[in-house]
Amino acid sequence: MKIICIGRNYAEHAKELNNAIPTEPVFFMKPDTAILKDGQDFYYPDFSKEIHHEIELVLKISKAGKNIDPEFAHKYYDEIGIGIDFTARDLQAKCKDKGLPWEKAKAFDSSAPIGNFKSKKSFQDLSNINFHLELNGKTVQKGNTKDLIFSFDHIVAYISQFVTLKTGDLIYTGTPEGVGPVFAGDKLEGFIENERLMMTEIK
Ligand code: MG
Repeated sequence: MKIICIGRNYAEHAKELNNAIPTEPVFFMKPDTAILKDGQDFYYPDFSKEIHHEIELVLKISKAGKNIDPEFAHKYYDEIGIGIDFTARDLQAKCKDKGLPWEKAKAFDSSAPIGNFKSKKSFQDLSNINFHLELNGKTVQKGNTKDLIFSFDHIVAYISQFVTLKTGDLIYTGTPEGVGPVFAGDKLEGFIENERLMMTEIK
């Protein structure tokens, strides 16, 4: 399986990092070794001094597809979960300065904590889903899918023009504003509506 992440999909987050609002989706990938599940601990890596949390809703692809029509994109994912797109912001800043790819800053081991998924059918309206991240019990990021620049269907169709989607692939759909650093000892918990679905502790 592969992990595809959308960058800058919430306007307020794009602004907080001084990025322009994109006119088409920005995406990058993480390898399967980035997955961190079942509440496992995250070990702070030696190569960075500034790991940021980015809480994101995650789509699980349920059917292989290429060149998917936006009208039918909803048929290609059947579960929604929540995860963190850990980012080595210090390394990413250097990559951005030099116009280099972001992989070092984004694709490292355990950079994609993921929680339990919920059936898509359990949501009444995919364009009105509340989610949030608690850091040591305090809400630090809060989002609603009504603020997505590019909808789930748009993202799925767009990516599939370039990369064939396969069953089990995950799409991290972008983070709302409020990203910030994590430190050893921190506890991170991801919620959809008021249900806690994801947890990791920083070691
Ligand atoms: Mg992200």
